[in-house]
Amino acid sequence: MKSPRFSAAVLCGLIVLARLDAQAPAPAVTPAGPAPLPVPELTEQWWPVPPVVQAPAGAPPSDAVVLFDGKSLDAWESVKKPGTPAEWTVADGAVTVKRETGDIRTKAGFGDVQLHLEFRAPAEVKGRGQGRGNSGIFFMERYELQVLDSYQNKTYVNGQLGSVYKQHPPLANPARPPGEWQVYDAVFTAPRFNADGSLQSPARLTAFLNGVLVQNHTELRGPTEYRGPPSYKAHPARLPLRLQDHGDLVSFRNIWVRELASP
Ligand code: MG
Repeated sequence: MKSPRFSAAVLCGLIVLARLDAQAPAPAVTPAGPAPLPVPELTEQWWPVPPVVQAPAGAPPSDAVVLFDGKSLDAWESVKKPGTPAEWTVADGAVTVKRETGDIRTKAGFGDVQLHLEFRAPAEVKGRGQGRGNSGIFFMERYELQVLDSYQNKTYVNGQLGSVYKQHPPLANPARPPGEWQVYDAVFTAPRFNADGSLQSPARLTAFLNGVLVQNHTELRGPTEYRGPPSYKAHPARLPLRLQDHGDLVSFRNIWVRELASP
């Protein structure tokens, strides 16, 4: 058995240790530093690798579908007489509307596309408003990007050059004088339809005219209508590109599209 004196000494020792511990300074707290920066590699994407496209100056990109190269209308047919050759006039590297022969359209169908096309209104000005240099580019044979001689030529703004006809005026009017070549570059996104024929997503159009943005991801209200408001009706996912014979001798050249993969 331990002596009472020994037990008291141990107890005193424990009390002293406890007090010393109570008086001991709190452990030092390291101040929080800035969070470590993420490594740059975290946000690098390496796959899939975009396809290489040759894009020589003044020529179509290597993956383009050339619709008119200045010589042949083989890619086109008459709308009036389907299955027969387009009857417009090919000369000097351009194709020009031939009155009364009607619209022409591509034999192939397209959905989402990037389009390049150059056009020229007749140098000799005849008529006014919609009667001057009128033609049109109909995506999917339904959705018209207007072609018109809009150089100092007043008309309703949603019918002038650069408009989505009867729907959206252009954001600007960079029209060149009649007789000069002009350039359209456009991105058309086809509408999507549900299995029951209802609209899933509308058509959209972005267009540059002579390098100037005229339509910016514009939502189309439906197919082009001359009279009354448009409304969508389900149609195939791929349909021809169509050029309009409006009775004016508008010329075209360097027409190509790049088919865009659906997202
Ligand atoms: Mg037109």
